[in-house]
Amino acid sequence: MDLGLAGKQALVLGASRGLGAASARALALEGAQVIAVARSTETTQRWRDALPANIGARIHPLKIDLTQRAQVDELVEQATRIGPTDILVNNGGGPPPGAAASMPLEQWTHYFEIMAAHLFHLTGRLLPSMLERGWGRIISIASSGVEQPIPNLALSNAVRAALLGWSKTLAGEVAARGVTVNVVLPGRIHTDRVDELDQAAAEKQGKSRAQVAHESANSIPAARYGRPEEFGDVIAFLASTRASYVTGAKIRVDGGMIRSI
Ligand code: NAD
Repeated sequence: MDLGLAGKQALVLGASRGLGAASARALALEGAQVIAVARSTETTQRWRDALPANIGARIHPLKIDLTQRAQVDELVEQATRIGPTDILVNNGGGPPPGAAASMPLEQWTHYFEIMAAHLFHLTGRLLPSMLERGWGRIISIASSGVEQPIPNLALSNAVRAALLGWSKTLAGEVAARGVTVNVVLPGRIHTDRVDELDQAAAEKQGKSRAQVAHESANSIPAARYGRPEEFGDVIAFLASTRASYVTGAKIRVDGGMIRSI
């Protein structure tokens, strides 16, 4: 299937590793030019250099810290200088753990700002040129926790639910103008972050990381963690011309982990 991504320009946030890097790679493999945003360009350059030269050449690392509002605006300027954005993949680091009942106000406002408000603002600034050209893709990476809240991850569960509400509202506003808006929900995709979370759980439970990962994988119907490239392929499809009638959706990439229909 030709995804029609050749020559499209994608902006992928949090692209130095994990799901962002996998999404950027999948889009570049399909022919898109990808601006890969992260706080450092070195890590991005490392995985880019491992790609065949003609595909690596489509990845343009850009150093931006998305916690800084001024840098979010700077990102719009820099990306626009390269060309109009066709595809935006909203992604970033996960928030720290913590219970809903004891979360300090400063934490709520800080994480709402960086995981929600800054993404809403960035999207709002890139949207006019998508609407003018009658084509665009806005894809946000959230978590299975928005459907089945993960205990002790109050910030993630709550703030990402806001991302979902915003996304669905926006999808309705722009659907007739060629712009689709979707949210992807990873379950457990094997990235460095998942290894770090398993390591933390292992230390808490007095087990090895491998043991924790094994038990966790066995709780998933697919009986394994997802591979980052399996996740990236879903992003590439949603970004494609072939996914033109998929909008306002939340799409699970979780090996069946969420049990509800
Ligand atoms: P990760 O920590 O491996 O990667 C996060 C990326 O975001 C990195 O490239 C990091 O450099 C970048 N980043 C972090 N803070 C940033 C900032 N201030 N400015 C710019 N870039 C920044 O995480 P991941 O596993 O790839 O997951 C990506 C997102 O999806 C996270 O928010 C995570 O919580 C969420 N998620 C992941 C899974 C999973 O299975 N991997 C499951 C549920 C939710």
